[in-house]
Amino acid sequence: MTEADTMTRAAVPSLDKALAFAGQAHNLYIGGRWVDPRGDASFTTHDPATGARLAEVAEARVEDVDAAVASARRAMDDPAWAEMKPAVRARLIHRLADALEANIDEMAALETLDNGMPLADARHFHLPYAIEQLRYYAGWATKLTGETIDISGGGTWHAFTLREPVGVVAQILPWNAPMAMACAKIAPALAAGCAIILKPAEQTPLTALRLAQLIEEVGFPAGVFNLLTGFGETAGAALTEHRGVDKVAFTGSTEVGRHILRAAAGNFKRVTLELGGKTPVIVLPDADAERAIEGAARSIFTNAGQVCNAGSRLFVHHDLFDEVVEGVTRIAQSIRLGPGLEQGTQMGPVISSEQRDRVMRYVASGIGEGATLRGAGPGREGEGYYVAPTVLTDTTGEMAVRREEIFGPVLCAISFADDDLDRIAAEANASEYGLGAVLWTNNLKACHRLVRKLKAGTVRVNGGGLDPALPFGGFKQSGWGRENGREGVEAYTEIKSVAIGI
Ligand code: NDP
Repeated sequence: MTEADTMTRAAVPSLDKALAFAGQAHNLYIGGRWVDPRGDASFTTHDPATGARLAEVAEARVEDVDAAVASARRAMDDPAWAEMKPAVRARLIHRLADALEANIDEMAALETLDNGMPLADARHFHLPYAIEQLRYYAGWATKLTGETIDISGGGTWHAFTLREPVGVVAQILPWNAPMAMACAKIAPALAAGCAIILKPAEQTPLTALRLAQLIEEVGFPAGVFNLLTGFGETAGAALTEHRGVDKVAFTGSTEVGRHILRAAAGNFKRVTLELGGKTPVIVLPDADAERAIEGAARSIFTNAGQVCNAGSRLFVHHDLFDEVVEGVTRIAQSIRLGPGLEQGTQMGPVISSEQRDRVMRYVASGIGEGATLRGAGPGREGEGYYVAPTVLTDTTGEMAVRREEIFGPVLCAISFADDDLDRIAAEANASEYGLGAVLWTNNLKACHRLVRKLKAGTVRVNGGGLDPALPFGGFKQSGWGRENGREGVEAYTEIKSVAIGI
């Protein structure tokens, strides 16, 4: 570490607390207690900015999964949770949001240590978003209702529906936005009255562990929230197969999503899947080029491209193609790559050496197949897992770099010549994914027509972002179901129909 690094680290609020927390022994949180894993196993996590050892964390095995499921089932039967008034649930969730807010600097530093993202992103986007998720869904606890229904058959009935919690839910997280995703998953489940077993990604368990401490302090009944750190192939797989689990909510790769669907079939678990994406960004000839350039660059380079909805395919009308590609390339070349804790860093490392090598393999394969490297940032030598932001042109629809989710800061820019919206939509839709689409235009008619033709769960026009109130999820192989909004909380409920003869 250089002297400059040491100085900027000294200026990071609550870094000392975050490092002290990272250095502690970390157990599993089951049934309201911190417990040793049954097999006494643990694993090491690493700081992506340096590759150095960061933490030692308990590894949950099958017996721990059994214990966590049993604890969650007991919580579902415990009147302390099952009969808690919705307004009390809401207050507990708000208290958790308050606790996160009170510890926001420490949480942000932990997130950066664990994931590598720039501290400013953690502190000013990921943590505030996580807190907003909790507050938004706290409001839903008192607003989940059934309906009364007029029946046309024989007899006279009072018919209505009840909306009940789905039960014990396993929530499996990826590493790219650990705290934002943890709260996006636990908030609706708690609002609906479910009991949770959370499994963070093996690379990024620290903020979830600290969150469990806050949940304990806030006073949720024992067993309502359980935390299992461990590996997907063991703890994750055991959770998704477990007959005591009623629902699985998963965010991660499409490949693991397929495993989960198969495993969930054993007892027909309810399943929500947020999977991969290959989001098209479309720039029509009338677009405000300057805003489109800035938006396209942000869409692919934020979080080092490790975003399911990253705008990784840029389709630009040929009238604007050179201007937009040069603009995005200039931004790529000016991005300051560095450790997330260093002041002024705009892009941190990717999560691991495997991820860095995977992204670099995609770039090399694209270039090997005839793509042109239009420009790349300066990169960074030495320790840590850095990938320079990269812009490619002359790709074809058959190349892996154009088809597959890279999950890195790599953009394929493609020119189109015609104004036929059907053809533009067909090119943008030529992907097995359908998570998002982005459109830059001031042409109202073209905007409305294209929005309807795009096969994507979220379409953003001239900006716009994530919001807890706006449903988020994918068409096609980008997933099943929706998170956020009414749909997000209703996915944690079952409908019970009741008919009473009167
Ligand atoms: P995975 O899909 O493997 O991991 C996501 C989560 O699933 C982790 O908690 C993981 O645990 C767990 N998991 C892994 N295998 C199983 C299983 N059989 N049963 C249950 N849970 C399991 O993503 P990777 O970390 O391997 O990343 C690979 C690629 O996936 C990325 O390059 C990217 O393309 C894509 N990805 C997409 C994300 C998105 O938001 N759409 C997020 C993350 C990755 P563990 O970490 O312990 O293995």
